[in-house]
Amino acid sequence: MRVRYAVEVKGIVQGVGFRPFVYGLAVHNQLGGWVLNHAAGVSLEIEGEAEDCEDFLIRLREDAPALAVVEEVQARRIAPQEAYSFAIRESGGGARDTLVSPDMGICEDCLAELRDPQNRRFRYAFTNCTNCGPRFTIIESLPYDRPRTTMRVFPLCADCAREYQDPLDRRFHAQPNACPVCGPQLRFLDAAGREQPGDALEAAKQAIRAGEIIAVKGIGGYHLVCDATAESAVTLLRNRKYRWDKPFAVMLPDLDTVRQYCLVEEAEAELLASQRRPIVLLRKRLDGSALAGEVAPRNPRIGVMLPYTPLHYLLCEQMPPLVMTSGNVSDEPIVYEDTCAVTALSGIADGFLTHNRAIFRRCDDSVAVYAAHAPRLLRRSRGYAPQPLTILDCGRNILACGGEQKNTFCLTRRDKAFLSQHIGDLDNQATLESYQREIGYFQEMFAVSPQVVACDMHPEYLSTQYARSCRDEARIEVQHHHAHLASVLAEHAVTGEAIGLIFDGTGYGPDGMLWGGEVLIGDCAGFRRAAHLRPLLLPGGSRAIREPWRIALAALADAGGMDLLASAPDGLLRPGWQILLQAAQQGINTPRSTSMGRLFDAVAALAGIGRTVNYEGQAAVELEQELSMPAHAAYAPYTFRIAQEDGMHVIDWRQLICAVVADMAAGRGAAVIARRFHQAVVALCLDICRCIRAESGLTQVALSGGCWQNIYLLEQTAAALQAEGFRVLLNQAVPANDGGLAYGQAAVAAAKIRKGMI
Ligand code: ZN
Ligand code: ZN
Ligand code: FE
Repeated sequence: MRVRYAVEVKGIVQGVGFRPFVYGLAVHNQLGGWVLNHAAGVSLEIEGEAEDCEDFLIRLREDAPALAVVEEVQARRIAPQEAYSFAIRESGGGARDTLVSPDMGICEDCLAELRDPQNRRFRYAFTNCTNCGPRFTIIESLPYDRPRTTMRVFPLCADCAREYQDPLDRRFHAQPNACPVCGPQLRFLDAAGREQPGDALEAAKQAIRAGEIIAVKGIGGYHLVCDATAESAVTLLRNRKYRWDKPFAVMLPDLDTVRQYCLVEEAEAELLASQRRPIVLLRKRLDGSALAGEVAPRNPRIGVMLPYTPLHYLLCEQMPPLVMTSGNVSDEPIVYEDTCAVTALSGIADGFLTHNRAIFRRCDDSVAVYAAHAPRLLRRSRGYAPQPLTILDCGRNILACGGEQKNTFCLTRRDKAFLSQHIGDLDNQATLESYQREIGYFQEMFAVSPQVVACDMHPEYLSTQYARSCRDEARIEVQHHHAHLASVLAEHAVTGEAIGLIFDGTGYGPDGMLWGGEVLIGDCAGFRRAAHLRPLLLPGGSRAIREPWRIALAALADAGGMDLLASAPDGLLRPGWQILLQAAQQGINTPRSTSMGRLFDAVAALAGIGRTVNYEGQAAVELEQELSMPAHAAYAPYTFRIAQEDGMHVIDWRQLICAVVADMAAGRGAAVIARRFHQAVVALCLDICRCIRAESGLTQVALSGGCWQNIYLLEQTAAALQAEGFRVLLNQAVPANDGGLAYGQAAVAAAKIRKGMI
């Protein structure tokens, strides 16, 4: 019996080879009909024998192309029309409801062509197809068609046009399709931006081999590249970038090479090689080949990525491991526009390997780690953004403005949350501009105008000020650590209450104090504070964060007064400390903070590491590094005391500080202290959760906040809680650090709207 179906498909179904796939499947099943792209997805009609149609509908979901994400297939029976041939129709208009694919690493087929001397794309640096290549970073507007991408300036040659029009070709409607005849070309510029004659790729490689620093244009911006085995080149890069200790990522040509430098588990290899190609933090091999020490000084891990563009593959051939760090000066955003590249990177880059395919939007590399049995994103950007996360549908569109550091924002449409790429630290003018611009683009791209704006409570965050300047929308201000908690709950679609162990560097409390070592009880709609760390004094405010010895000083005075200060570890106290302490005790320029990150700073400083630091979280990273040192004897964990104050548990660290000082005096050193301290925090988490479970019956625990980037802490705490029968919830798709804040803010707003609280 002949039947006909009208079918609507939604999800990531454009620019991913979906229509040729539909065409091939229809032809295979001997069906007539047509398929059409429109702004809300893909429509198609099929007609044929009933069982062939049913088979088609099953395979439509199950055999979809690699980059497609089929979210919804609606099929309804309609009257047959005697159709025996199948056609691909021109794109139509209609209401916009479609999704944009992230940029994807080169596929196996394209890589094979790149390496095949007989292929017309042999060694062509811009080879791509419907299964791979740039998307998000070249799309100017929707629907996704070549004239609305930065590829519009390259008219297709006859060969490329034939591929583009052939429904059975891998490049059918591949918008970035190109070849050496018609597509983008590489160029090599000297430090002053003058184009150099000759083979651009070879010139760049020669310069890198000679120890120079070359800016290489990538997918979402420029990288700065140098020889990762040459100490002098890496040091030069540090000096020129004003980046002293923060680790650099490296690019290695293949998994075998990665294994020479790092310990790689199967799951980590999978993450590295996935088409999203994040930077993966791997453990350094102590017995293998070594990179220059300056690549990631005093860090137990190193960020590694595999090549993800054809250009990267060509660049890595016959080359040492390469440092690949974002092309910027210190905290500025990554450079992505050709017109500014030479000026912005002047004094840093000795040359530029660039090309004429424009990058429409900035998009940094993503960073992931495999920890506690799952891949976890520490920075969700290239390869992931703007693929939506799910969120509870609350009937209104929300713009969540995010935090101040590691900013991302989040726009919701029904049950989809479009979390932006990594924007960066908003205290920088260029970053703030791209923040505002991208918010505009997202609204246009996803056809959403927000009715509710969510933001942090911190009055000085520029994201808060941005939210306050939006006058037409209802505004909701979300407490920082509540947003962290909600980010985990929303990721796991948990609606009930949980215990939130929210540990981070800092966040604004409703009492105006700096919070950051918080035990909350709550769901997405609300929370109460169940416990917090005893406040630490931060003498000198932000200077105390760069100079953790100041925090240690104040903690010593609090824990044991002048007696304890008299036995302060050697070299801790800097000249003028008495005056600083006096001012601190009088509250002059000395905020108080319950931050767990700051306690890590204080302990690290006492242990003689990270007494002054130059990137956020450095002291904690260096303390974690100590855990990989062999400890010659076993010591019991330090202990926190949990006191009761006005119905609140206060976590008292004073005894712990005294014990650290005693260990230093006994010559036990940083490795012992790091171990005892980390174990103490794990034990603390367990104690507090047991205590709250006894009081409230709650058995779910959510861990979030930047401190949970500490892998030892995360894995040990999760395991200890699970062993005690708790259900442990961790961030996975969304960073536990402030990069996940916007998603959490959106979840809080959605929950409050559903409860009628807004
Ligand atoms: Zn491909
Ligand atoms: Zn061509
Ligand atoms: Fe935070």
